[in-house]
Amino acid sequence: MNEHRKDFRSSYHEDEQLAEAPRLLRLQVAQLMRQIPLNLAVNAVALVALALMPLQELQRAGLALLALIYLWLFSLWWQHRQAPKQALQAQLPWRMGAVLALAGVLYALQAEALMQQLHEPGRLVLVGVAAAFLAGGAWALCGLAQTGLGWSLGNGLTMAISLYSSGHVLLGGLTLLFTAVLCSHVLEGERQARERVAQQLRLERQHQLLDVALRDFEADASDWLWELDGEGRLRHVSVHLAKAIGRPRVSLYGKAFVDLLFEGSQPAGASAAIADLAHRLRSPARPIHDLLLPLQWQGKRRWWQLRAKPMLDDEGELQGWRGVAADVTALQLRDEALRRLANVDTLTGLASRHQFQAALAQHWAGERLVQPCALMLIDLDNFKAVNDSLGHAAGDELLHGVAQRLQAVLAAPNLLARLGGDEFALLLPGEHDLPALQALAEQLRAALHEPFLVQQRRLYMHMSLGAARAPSDASSPSALMQSADLALYAAKAAGRDQLACFEPHLQAAAQQRLSLSAELRQAVASGDGLYIDYQPKYAMSTGQLVGVEALVRWQHWQRGGLSPSSFIPLAEETGLIVPLGEWVLERACSDAAGWPQALTLAVNLSPVQIERIDAGALIERVLERSGLAPWRLEIEITESVFIGDSGRAEALLAHLKRLGVRVALDDFGTGYSSLGALQNLPLDTLKIDRSFVLQLGPDNPRATAIVRTVVQLARAIGAQTVAEGIETEMQLQALRLLGCDIGQGYHLSRPLAPEQLRPLLFAPLPPSWNTSQTPAATAAVAA
Ligand code: C2E
Ligand code: CA
Ligand code: CA
Repeated sequence: MNEHRKDFRSSYHEDEQLAEAPRLLRLQVAQLMRQIPLNLAVNAVALVALALMPLQELQRAGLALLALIYLWLFSLWWQHRQAPKQALQAQLPWRMGAVLALAGVLYALQAEALMQQLHEPGRLVLVGVAAAFLAGGAWALCGLAQTGLGWSLGNGLTMAISLYSSGHVLLGGLTLLFTAVLCSHVLEGERQARERVAQQLRLERQHQLLDVALRDFEADASDWLWELDGEGRLRHVSVHLAKAIGRPRVSLYGKAFVDLLFEGSQPAGASAAIADLAHRLRSPARPIHDLLLPLQWQGKRRWWQLRAKPMLDDEGELQGWRGVAADVTALQLRDEALRRLANVDTLTGLASRHQFQAALAQHWAGERLVQPCALMLIDLDNFKAVNDSLGHAAGDELLHGVAQRLQAVLAAPNLLARLGGDEFALLLPGEHDLPALQALAEQLRAALHEPFLVQQRRLYMHMSLGAARAPSDASSPSALMQSADLALYAAKAAGRDQLACFEPHLQAAAQQRLSLSAELRQAVASGDGLYIDYQPKYAMSTGQLVGVEALVRWQHWQRGGLSPSSFIPLAEETGLIVPLGEWVLERACSDAAGWPQALTLAVNLSPVQIERIDAGALIERVLERSGLAPWRLEIEITESVFIGDSGRAEALLAHLKRLGVRVALDDFGTGYSSLGALQNLPLDTLKIDRSFVLQLGPDNPRATAIVRTVVQLARAIGAQTVAEGIETEMQLQALRLLGCDIGQGYHLSRPLAPEQLRPLLFAPLPPSWNTSQTPAATAAVAA
């Protein structure tokens, strides 16, 4: 890897060198050319000095030749001067080298001739001068190898040869050595010169590259460069900076950066961030990383993110800062929008679950409660029915309306949030006693008093509330939520439309529900402790036993006989109703198949069963196995299965119809279904709810009217009516007068164990049966 990188780097340099070779040579030549005038001047002086000496013919000729050579050199220099930009002729260095070599030879020959004419001391001086001349030339010409070597070799070698041949062996040898040293000096000198020039070229190119890069960078719309001097004043002002601030660039040079930022600081508090920046600019020890400044320029909010490095001199003194600023406004605005979205429930405009939990958590510092608070969970009682029957758009509209009304009752610092669905939560900072919570709950419930108008319908809404407080009811935010949830559960279990406050026993009750459901699972799996009671139903006109309703019982090993209302809801919550319902159906059908009389058997079917399994297929299977005639079975369902998406319930009804199984609508009148919708369903029986039967009497005309209407409706759709919960003779008589077909209730018979039922099968009239009418019953019916 490293090898590879080295290769790459050297080849990159080679490329560079190849590309730069002509420029390098040109610069070298130019550098040499700058020496030429001085060189020419020295030589002119030397030539004049020589000319003044008493010379022989040959010497004068040599001198003239030298003058000519220098004229040539001058012309080369002149040409170069006149056309410096012209492409350099590659031969120029060689030509100049040749010229200078020739000049060197001629000078040496002149020196040799002079030598002959002088005596010993003069000769020594001459050798010294000649050596100095040789060295001076080599020095002056070493920028270019050809010229330096040409001169040194031409001059030095000629001198050495002539000294040697004239008998000065030692001097000749020394000159040769001296020449060799000069040549190596020339080569080294050229190398250094080239290096200097190349260095200069590299620097130049780096500057250019940097310049291009910076220009590119600054052309990018969101980032720009900034540079400060040691005093924190702007030294480089980018176009973008000037544009962002809305001021001419010139006015910004030399301005203290921090002061400038303060001018654009937001009232909302960029000051702390700018002060931080000012502090950091004064302490050059660390670079600045991604410092975010919320600013305001020309009335617009902007976020700048700064990064910078200090510039230090050799002594480590701060010379200034150089850095990049990025305009991250778009990013910040998006983040802000996301934060808002996360904190606000878009449907209602209330706080979101996220914000609520954050606010709740603020009351604790770690494990320790720092501020007491109360929490109310709010659940709309009948929301699901509205949502299912009128659609989600109506449901949303309703939630929005509810949120607005609740919010109108509340004020800061109380925080109302929608946790999801129809579940709201209210955080009440501070201490709150129970009466205060009750009063607030009353206010909230009163806010829903007026009906809501949704899709031209008037909807009456109620809600259940569960409250819990910290520190009395919980020691952590999640525990407080749990306690409030238990209270809400209690409010619903107590009949909804009310507030329940957390009490320690709710925790125990929840625990019990948990263990009870485990035990129910066990009971359902083994069948131990479960049994069925059958409650007789009688024809109102004749008093004849016509059928029974199967009612499941659970004999708990510890708690004794449990009523279905204490474990059926639990079974529905946990899904255990599916195997439990199957067990009841199986057992009741096989019991009924063994009875001597062809009584009908009514079996309750839970909405959860319809939702989760193919109940029609189950019933078909059970009938086959037990051998019970289908027309003897009556399945009791409640209205709630037709609310919302009733496709499964309708399919079930069709299936039962095909099988010949009867269908009864249980607890009729307590649900929300419209009578019109029921008209189209294949129902065989309407069971008038116990609550209406209970209210029958001379002073309750409303109950009488409802029963009468149900009876009429049943006749209209070809169904029979069963009145359940008949507890008095008066009720029985009234129902008979109102035209009800069948009666069921404690007054006629309690639910019975199979062995208690047996004797009745042979004596089908109830013991207390009589058909006389009391005035009270007549009065009730007349009401
Ligand atoms: P339900 O279907 O309305 O059953 C009638 C309930 O009224 C029974 O209560 C019965 O004992 C009671 N009852 C009958 N006559 C009178 C009366 O004159 N006065 C009063 N106060 N009550 C009377 P039970 O047995 O406690 O059952 C309660 C509910 O549990 C049933 O109401 C039914 O919804 C459910 N349930 C019972 N057995 C089953 C079952 O096998 N499957 C399903 N899914 N639900 C069942
Ligand atoms: Ca029933
Ligand atoms: Ca019922």
